[in-house]
Amino acid sequence: MDTIKVLIVGAGPSACYVVDALAKTDLPLSIDMIDRYPQPFGLLRTGVAPDHERIKSLDTYFGKILDQAPLKFYGNISFGSDITLDDVKDAYHAIFFCTGTESDNDVPGLDYSLSNVAGSRDVVEWYNGYTSQRTHFDPLSLGNTVGIIGMGNVALDIARIFLKEPVDLAKTEMPQSCIDIITKQAISDVHIFARRGPAQAKCTPLELAELLELDTIQTLLDPSSITLSDTDMVEYNETKRVQKNVDILKEITSTNALSKRLHIHFCSQLKEAHVNDGAVNGVTMAKTILSGDPHQQKTTLTDESYHVPLTSLISSTGYKGAALPGIVFNEKTHCIPHEAGKITTQPKSSATYYCAGWIKRGPQGVIGTNKSGAKETVDSFVADVASFSSKSLHPFDLANTLKQRNLTYYSYDDWKTQNDFEIAEGTKKNKKRFKLTTITDIEHCLKTNS
Ligand code: NAP
Repeated sequence: MDTIKVLIVGAGPSACYVVDALAKTDLPLSIDMIDRYPQPFGLLRTGVAPDHERIKSLDTYFGKILDQAPLKFYGNISFGSDITLDDVKDAYHAIFFCTGTESDNDVPGLDYSLSNVAGSRDVVEWYNGYTSQRTHFDPLSLGNTVGIIGMGNVALDIARIFLKEPVDLAKTEMPQSCIDIITKQAISDVHIFARRGPAQAKCTPLELAELLELDTIQTLLDPSSITLSDTDMVEYNETKRVQKNVDILKEITSTNALSKRLHIHFCSQLKEAHVNDGAVNGVTMAKTILSGDPHQQKTTLTDESYHVPLTSLISSTGYKGAALPGIVFNEKTHCIPHEAGKITTQPKSSATYYCAGWIKRGPQGVIGTNKSGAKETVDSFVADVASFSSKSLHPFDLANTLKQRNLTYYSYDDWKTQNDFEIAEGTKKNKKRFKLTTITDIEHCLKTNS
């Protein structure tokens, strides 16, 4: 069989699992992988909290997968601008889109142009050292009292990073410049606002316990807010995650007053963000009541409300995918429509199209969830392989095309040089890793270490 030419757009966890599943097919493959970031591993480097070192260490596992596959990596290359669908649609047998999610699921009515209002994506990219996707977020405007809307795992990540002792953050791969800014902001209070109740909190027990067990913070919550209704009780009895979350919350006991406080507000929805001098200085939260069947309870606003003074406000209300030029997209689910990973409406071309990861199923699940999803997508690819021999491809060399366009890209060998440097430099600084996140720093590393 002739070599099957594959392009993978994206180099995050789902793309790495796709490469792994492709390699296991034992088919003769030649894989090109592009990513808009200069380095591989996507959210693992830019989204996973820096103190989640066990998860971060998956880079070694993914590194081995990419290392052993017949693959060329092209970092710093964006699909749709640097390389277009027209460039590649007749140049590959198969194209996999593993582009994840691009933006935040914004809270309606919240003015994100204000200096101290941000979506979680900007915040997590910032504390991971990346600023390229940043819009208006200014970490210097966080101040000492931060509000977070939403109670998923990302909200807990942000609360934990903001409240953790700087000395504990310093050991992680979090850039020292970010730790210095957080220290300077002297964050003493983080308020988490969940629009539904404790039984509906989206976070997972491990992450909830990790935050609440920090012995340097005091958790404050109205005990009456964790009383469960009959419908909540059904959810509690039927779902292990709910049961564990609620049990963890019930264990919160009054501790001595501490200088860092986490406030958890259930059944609280944003009514108004108060603005003064171009910045939010507090919120009025409306209390909600829940109604509906178990596992589908929705909120209704009540007349009861309360005011919380804040120095900044972050929405951590989930992410959403973005349409890729020329690829069919569902504007409601923000995903690419597919059947078992094969894109349902195929653009007219020699290539057959597939998707994996969050752009396939939406932003749910942990990194490992991508493994079975990638396997399903690659199974669909394998079922199509016989049809590829009838497709004649245009001659195309990605590296040459990029060079002709004067585009700078970073190869997998470039990443290995950076990886060695980051780990060695981290060891010197008593950190897990000293991250290179700007093109200037990457260029300097490659010039002095290649
Ligand atoms: P998420 O789990 O979907 O949580 C979103 C939160 O925002 C929910 O509490 C949701 O409340 C709330 N929300 C949504 N729209 C809202 C609105 N308009 N107003 C007020 N609240 C609103 O999203 P995420 O925290 O961004 O996490 C994304 C995925 O990454 C999840 O699968 C998560 O588990 C995963 N992740 C995992 C880890 C880890 O394993 N350590 C760490 C980070 C992220 P409702 O429930 O009422 O909609």
